[in-house]
Amino acid sequence: MPLENCIFVATHNADKLREIRQILKDTNWAVFGPDDFEPYPEPDEDGATLLENALIKAHAGFKWLGLLTLADDSGLEVDALDGKPGIHSARYAGSDATYDDNVNLLLSELKDISYDKRSARFRCVMALVGSGIERWWEGVTEGTIIEEKRGQSGFGYDPVFWSPELEMTFAEASAEAKNRVSHRGLALAGLIDVLNNQA
Ligand code: IMP
Repeated sequence: MPLENCIFVATHNADKLREIRQILKDTNWAVFGPDDFEPYPEPDEDGATLLENALIKAHAGFKWLGLLTLADDSGLEVDALDGKPGIHSARYAGSDATYDDNVNLLLSELKDISYDKRSARFRCVMALVGSGIERWWEGVTEGTIIEEKRGQSGFGYDPVFWSPELEMTFAEASAEAKNRVSHRGLALAGLIDVLNNQA
């Protein structure tokens, strides 16, 4: 496998890495994660936007490994909460919060909000950094936060994110269905065009 056909995904989130691998599986690029190169030191995500954080992670990965590096920064924006948790989605209920802690806090903050006012979206920025390369793509998928968790698949806020396109929550959808409409799948569509044209 020539080095030009390898891409490093700079994330310690195993769920994101699994989805990115699935979405890129039909390209002829080999996808590596930190589990292939322990110990990968993850940088502080102290940017003010998803784009800044995605670029911080992608630049850190490229500097560390010298391989073309992809990084995802993503979050959930809930209109009734003025766009929260947004960039703080991973640590919404505190720095050690589990996915469940975050979902439970979200549901409690929305408990008095009626169904028609629970609109939300997932947003993802994918940054690609390599020698002389700095590119990024954004993907957004719209939905509604339902009142109770439904489904066992996916991760994070998926059990409470109802997708009108799929007519189910992301946690009830198959991986293929979620990836087809998700913020991550849409952001990666731009990257796939570039990879297919370079390989
Ligand atoms: P970060 O990009 O690592 O800062 O964190 C993103 C956080 O947003 C995750 O920890 C999840 O809580 C949430 N998130 C991002 N993408 C998804 C998704 O596809 N499904 C559910 N939650 C997500």
